Amino acid sequence: MDWVLKKSDAVACPVLNHGSSFPVNNIYCVGRNYSEHAKEMGGNPDREPPFFFHKISEILLPPGNDLEFPDDTKELHHEVELVVALGSKGFKIQKTQSKDLIFGYAVGVDLTKRDIQKNAKETGRPWMSGKVFSGSAAISDIVIKEESEEPDNIEISLSINDIIRQQSKCAQMIWSVEEIIFLLSQTIPLFPGDLIYTGTPSGVGKIKKGDTVSATLHQENSAHLSFEIF
Ligand code: MN
Repeated sequence: MDWVLKKSDAVACPVLNHGSSFPVNNIYCVGRNYSEHAKEMGGNPDREPPFFFHKISEILLPPGNDLEFPDDTKELHHEVELVVALGSKGFKIQKTQSKDLIFGYAVGVDLTKRDIQKNAKETGRPWMSGKVFSGSAAISDIVIKEESEEPDNIEISLSINDIIRQQSKCAQMIWSVEEIIFLLSQTIPLFPGDLIYTGTPSGVGKIKKGDTVSATLHQENSAHLSFEIF
């Protein structure tokens, strides 16, 4: 095939202890997946099925990069999340096939312009302007599935300037990783390179210029991320 343009290379995310990189494709995010966080955002965790939104791969903040504070928000929030990296494709899969799609796990921060998101909610507009901007999906190295605990045995945490702000067992997610992959695949064809940010526990809050944000995927083979906001 003769293409009229050459596509840019994929955005790269390092794979922990393997000296190689994972090529990032689509980034999907779960809206609400921990009941305490759903409550702090004014939702009802028992009645609401999961919903998804999307970030483009070009906004990834790979390990080792700092974040420029966006100039159109006064309320930049952190949301620490378990990130699932997909290594195989799947469309309309069975729930029992979900695990086969998983390449590995990382910890990520879904950065959110909360004031802009609130305005979008109130006016019935899409969340894009509050959720999708340069650097808005921070991620650690990816731990390959074979070298990782199952999500139920993983904990995630986030600190600002060494003070813990969010900490949770991933077992507390309302919808499990397998259910999320299964549900997403019913309407969207999933591909190798896709990342899924699986929702945040309670404790989200503001970050500002000069802060150092750190997050950890706690397990024997743990992964970390840390970035400064300038
Ligand atoms: Mn989120």
